[in-house]
Amino acid sequence: MTAEAPILETRDIVKHFGGGTGLAAGPLVHAVDPISLSVNRGETFAIVGESGCGKSTLARLLLRLIEPTSGQVYYEGQDLTALTPTQMRKLRAEMQFIFQDPFSSLNPRMKVRTLVEEPLLVHTRLSARERRTRVDELLRQVGLRPEYADRYPHEFSGGQRQRIGIARALASGPKLLIGDEPVSALDVSVRAQIINLLDELKGAFGLTLVIISHDLAVIRHMSDRVAVMYLGQIVETAPVESLFERPLHPYTQALIQAIPVPAPGARDPGDRKLRGDIPSPVAPPPGCRFHTRCPHAVEICHQKEPFLEAAGEGRFVACHRWSELPHRGLTGKVGAALTPGAERRFALYRERSAADAGGSP
Ligand code: SF4
Repeated sequence: MTAEAPILETRDIVKHFGGGTGLAAGPLVHAVDPISLSVNRGETFAIVGESGCGKSTLARLLLRLIEPTSGQVYYEGQDLTALTPTQMRKLRAEMQFIFQDPFSSLNPRMKVRTLVEEPLLVHTRLSARERRTRVDELLRQVGLRPEYADRYPHEFSGGQRQRIGIARALASGPKLLIGDEPVSALDVSVRAQIINLLDELKGAFGLTLVIISHDLAVIRHMSDRVAVMYLGQIVETAPVESLFERPLHPYTQALIQAIPVPAPGARDPGDRKLRGDIPSPVAPPPGCRFHTRCPHAVEICHQKEPFLEAAGEGRFVACHRWSELPHRGLTGKVGAALTPGAERRFALYRERSAADAGGSP
């Protein structure tokens, strides 16, 4: 855990949509309800949850691409919600977004050179010659040949287009990249390449990454810390290794237990799948929002909302019963193969756990 101030922090950030009167009348949608989180400099922080849990809305709030209903977002200690549009424009060079869909996020009428050069024109004072050199460099850094710069986006594959999107995001020299499902629109065979590219660029450029995904395999391979989101709220945060080995919240456990087991004769996860649908964010259930699907729900869960509480090892969990429930993780399960980086992190975590266990009374 770093002693440095977090690069990004939210304090009780809330986003509700609708709920207006007159012509704007409509139901009030609780997309994000008070969320406070912090992202450390240089880490990959993941936000995971089912579709419709509010994670994409949260990602947009983090960069103030949409305005919060209430609460604050701090970047490098500055309250983004208090900045003027001009101040915000200047700061955007440091905070960039990678979109889910590399097909619609690039203007089809612009050549690749123009697309990647655009942020350089907005955020730097480089000459035309320097910009040309920089675009060539950026294309090389994302694994594309500079001669591709005179082609249009439709001439590229999905993976190549996402590389162009990443080059464009890197052009302004950001410190923070937020990726909203950055690989989910790509073929499975290309996903690993883009994940590895983001990992390499993170090291090369000293970036902090925030990755939004519903895909636990992506989260497990890429991230250092994870926040699990359910119906507009964070229900658990933990270092990635401990989250997968010992998930504390019943929702996290259900997500992890539902990961398919890629082994011959392995049991289908059908019997461990989450039951029921995620409730409507128009009328979130009272008490614990997960109680309508939780196999461990008791009376208090229907009445009292649980808040995040410290659970050791830098972990936080929002569940009345977390300390008394069994915690089934991936230990002993034949899971998807890990990247070398993730293997190292798991090995370190196991060593630390063994050392802690040896030192405890
Ligand atoms: Fe389940 Fe109750 Fe914990 Fe909610 S508070 S996750 S309903 S046990």
